Amino acid sequence: MFLRNLCRTSVKLNIRNYSQNNLLKTPPKILITGGLGQLGVECARYLRAKYGRENVILSDIIKPSQEIVNDGPYIFVDILDFKGLQKTVVDHRVDWLIHFSALLSAIGEQNVPLAVRVNIEGVHNVIELAKQYNLRIFVPSTIGAFGPDSPRNPTPNITIQRPRTIYGVSKVHAELLGEYYYHKFGLDFRCLRFPGVISSDPPGGGTTDYAIAVFHDVLRKGQYQCYLKPDTRLPMMHVKDALRALSEYLEVPNDNLTRRVYNVTSMSFTPEELADKMATHIPDFKITYRPDSRQDIADSWPQVFDDSEARRDWNWKPEVNLDDLVSLMIKEVKEKIAANGLS
Ligand code: NAD
Repeated sequence: MFLRNLCRTSVKLNIRNYSQNNLLKTPPKILITGGLGQLGVECARYLRAKYGRENVILSDIIKPSQEIVNDGPYIFVDILDFKGLQKTVVDHRVDWLIHFSALLSAIGEQNVPLAVRVNIEGVHNVIELAKQYNLRIFVPSTIGAFGPDSPRNPTPNITIQRPRTIYGVSKVHAELLGEYYYHKFGLDFRCLRFPGVISSDPPGGGTTDYAIAVFHDVLRKGQYQCYLKPDTRLPMMHVKDALRALSEYLEVPNDNLTRRVYNVTSMSFTPEELADKMATHIPDFKITYRPDSRQDIADSWPQVFDDSEARRDWNWKPEVNLDDLVSLMIKEVKEKIAANGLS
């Protein structure tokens, strides 16, 4: 028994050493699309620290700030331009594609035709591109890929998915198309369903954005008007956990994966619970509630996300709990306000 465990441990260590050495010798060349949104800039920083500054190329259709350009390689990539995508992969010898371009849930409802183009046509392009050039491709999905017919507490990895937003429909489409390309062509498609991701960067127009906006408004103005009811429970995760999940998942050997799409989460809370936690750090602030159309979206989404399959297959484990999240956000948002002023 002891010998068997020793052998297992040393095999595990060897695999880890091998993969680390291997990565150090030939780090992957990574392209991030839609990189100037909430997740892309932080993701590029995280992966550059791991694989080297020049090996992670950030791209978007937006003109970058000087700070972005100073951080590392940045190029224009429109995911609706297939030839442009091909040229980028060839010119930069890309190995892994992290596809962040999207219109999020609330914004998507305001412009359905554009959401169809960016979220569906765009995914056709990048998946076909990844197949042609044999890329490992990561496409994030979301709790928004579930709907009112799905079990909400908890929501398992495999269950009914009948979302009622164009964002959710396009994400189910991406999950299924990626899985299809994996089974049909052997494409190394990887997808994590993220809950609301909390960071101090401005959010892109999702239904979980209140959990970011509340920190900015309270620290700037001492008050916040929330567009969800106080008892709306949604799964959430700090960006640190989200990026670590993404990065760890990208390195898992194919043999360990029993799925191409995994739920991941860190915690679930309501606006009221978040405000109570914030009040232990910031004694005097006011929160009011005025639900709008985003309430209907939130009411159809998971309340508690079951990520046991990710925990089982590749040892996923969150590290940032609600206490940590509130402390981190207060610190980071204060730093942003100090750097940019109160506006
Ligand atoms: P975001 O809305 O902040 O950024 C999306 C980016 O896509 C924008 O910078 C935009 O310019 C870019 N884009 C739009 N059209 C494009 C085009 N034609 N070509 C290239 N780029 C284009 O989004 P985010 O919050 O950074 O999310 C990144 C990804 O993670 C998305 O796919 C989103 O669905 C997923 N996700 C995010 C969250 C979250 O809480 N932020 C949660 C779950 C999943």
